[in-house]
Amino acid sequence: MKKMNAAVLTQYRKVEWKQADIPEISGNEVLIKVSYACICGSDQHVFMGEFHPRTTLPLIQGHEFAGTIVETGPDVKNHKTGDRVAVDPIIWCGHCPACLRHHYPACTTLKLVGIDLDGGFSEYMKVPENMLYKVTDNIPDEHAALVEVLSIGFHACKRAKVKEGDRVVIWGTGKVGQSILQALRTKTQNTVIMVDILDERLAIAKNAYSDIHIINAAKENAVDKVKELTDGEGVDIAFEAVGHTLDLPGVVNPVRGCIQSIRGGGTVCVLGLSSEPSPIVMKELIWKEGIIMTSRVSHGEFAETIDNMNRGILKPDAIVTDIMHPSETQKAFEMLEEEPHKHLKILLKFKQ
Ligand SMILES: [Zn+2]
Ligand SMILES: [Zn+2]
Repeated sequence: MKKMNAAVLTQYRKVEWKQADIPEISGNEVLIKVSYACICGSDQHVFMGEFHPRTTLPLIQGHEFAGTIVETGPDVKNHKTGDRVAVDPIIWCGHCPACLRHHYPACTTLKLVGIDLDGGFSEYMKVPENMLYKVTDNIPDEHAALVEVLSIGFHACKRAKVKEGDRVVIWGTGKVGQSILQALRTKTQNTVIMVDILDERLAIAKNAYSDIHIINAAKENAVDKVKELTDGEGVDIAFEAVGHTLDLPGVVNPVRGCIQSIRGGGTVCVLGLSSEPSPIVMKELIWKEGIIMTSRVSHGEFAETIDNMNRGILKPDAIVTDIMHPSETQKAFEMLEEEPHKHLKILLKFKQ
């Protein structure tokens, strides 16, 4: 067996940079030489052991990555050696009630490369051809690795049916909130407001899009401020991308804040993966005949993301705070945990 280097989660909270077998391909699979991978919030949960029932150790994590095809299986039809590709990491079953309705992100047994099976934090990775999206020459490798996370934003916009002229608030300026912002700016040029309690993250959004409004919910009443910025009317759509409820005095719960921020007949789209109950008051939603809905991962938005990236409309660099060698994956996880205000997207650079 030929060997490669990989960042292997050998115990929870312990990633080792060590030798592993280069995967052998067959059938419709290709072997990819990974150029860049990036660390996702869910990777952090896996690292800490919070996805325990789904993960078996040792595990090579990573579902956000891109690279170049170096070998193709005998049944591969549409790709060849040398093609640069981004990888859609989702594996759905195709026959559960959701899949039968083409609602793949809600597949009952949805699996993700890098969580349920080995992923892209390795020099080489095998992937079936149907998970590949070709990347155009205009897109550098480090941006190709960000297609997955940005596609989450495009999927959320599709779910919430964002259209030109919509006024929108995004609660949470982490990786998901920033991805929604980038997708959103391809859909509506009207008022966009970002809410968070970390000034550093609000600044990342504002630096990338100077025409947006930012609100620090720890310093001012975010709902009042949203109303003020929308002529007292409220927004058409509110995205919730916080995912946890911090009991901060005077800070409104994010989902409830979204409900209070929409106009009559508006939509709240929730993406934040919280394990705790969200204290919401249904009357506040029903009074507005508001819609509350959710969005998870992406489906089919890779092509739209690559197209927008190719045309130079997105700002992938805005969300990258660090580029590190994959042998430092352990350190990267620790940085994200200890100083969340300082780091957003960490890229692991595999290419020499
Ligand atoms: Zn991710
Ligand atoms: Zn399914």
